[in-house]
Amino acid sequence: MQKTALVCGAGGFIGSHLVNRLKREGFWVRGVDLKFPQFAPTQADDFLVADLRDPANCRAVVDRCFDEVYQLAADMGGAGFVFTGENDADIMHNSALINLNMLDVCYKRNIKRIFYSSSACIYPEYNQLNPDDPKTSEESAYPAAPDSEYGWEKLFSERLYLTYQRNHGLTVRVARYHNIFGPEGSWRDGREKAPAALCRKIAEVADGGTIDVWGDGKQTRSFLYVDECLEGTLRLMRSDWTGPVNIGSEEMVSINQLAQIIMEIAGKQVNLNHIPGPLGVRGRNSDNHLIMQKLGWKPTEPLKDGLAKTYPWIKAQVEAFKKK
Ligand code: NAD
Repeated sequence: MQKTALVCGAGGFIGSHLVNRLKREGFWVRGVDLKFPQFAPTQADDFLVADLRDPANCRAVVDRCFDEVYQLAADMGGAGFVFTGENDADIMHNSALINLNMLDVCYKRNIKRIFYSSSACIYPEYNQLNPDDPKTSEESAYPAAPDSEYGWEKLFSERLYLTYQRNHGLTVRVARYHNIFGPEGSWRDGREKAPAALCRKIAEVADGGTIDVWGDGKQTRSFLYVDECLEGTLRLMRSDWTGPVNIGSEEMVSINQLAQIIMEIAGKQVNLNHIPGPLGVRGRNSDNHLIMQKLGWKPTEPLKDGLAKTYPWIKAQVEAFKKK
């Protein structure tokens, strides 16, 4: 029997890549989103354009007993979307409704296994003040103090999923993604994250030119290429491990270092003009002890390899956009 999967958020960055990966594995895949993927046709066997804030739509989408359900739909974006404060009500309202509805429908339709994409943004700000030594081990999520409403909604929804596992026997898997990047992600719509934004700025400017960078650029992060994110997601989904687990890279860099790596790939040297902007925590890196212990696997691809695949895609978008 051909296995079946439902991908919620299949019109988005990670969801559209996940559909492709599941198709390569031989699944029959239904995708659902508010929109079709922006950059390439969906490979889903069936794609429904539907608003998952509406429980009737969720019931229509979950009309059969899928082997695997992946819930990635959320109202989200990079620092320019999440940390300005302007989108807080939408983020909390929209994403919480999607999770409340989808989870309950999956339980009532006897779905056996559901994956939920949480975020490193759930970790407390007080452990991420030192850019050289941030703490993100899974148990350090509590006492909770995320620095954004996006993080609070993710934490609430993690707990929601785990209650359905405890009280209703639904098999739930929760990943805390750390800054996923790659081709076919947002690059200029206001929701792009640092790797895409810096690739775009460096692609747009001439050698020796200047680009703006938010903050002093000494804030640290790690970035995970989308293919490794999917590898971790599928391994977690099919494992016996229940608790939330980090899926991220351990290769921590400052934003200035990230820009330097992209410049090397682009073959350009540009000046960084540091300006005030929304920043998030001072430092963050993925702690991969638990994933290694529970799944016997962790991401290993060097950041520069993922950027070498992403920069040419963004450069091509920049050039096509200029022509338009
Ligand atoms: P994305 O914005 O590209 O994809 C999310 C998709 O959800 C979008 O296509 C959007 O249209 C869809 N959506 C939003 N509201 C909807 C609704 N009411 N009904 C149906 N669909 C709706 O984001 P992404 O980067 O692909 O992230 C996927 C998931 O992973 C999200 O839950 C996100 O919070 C989580 N995550 C991502 C990252 C990252 O770095 N990309 C990091 C941590 C967590």
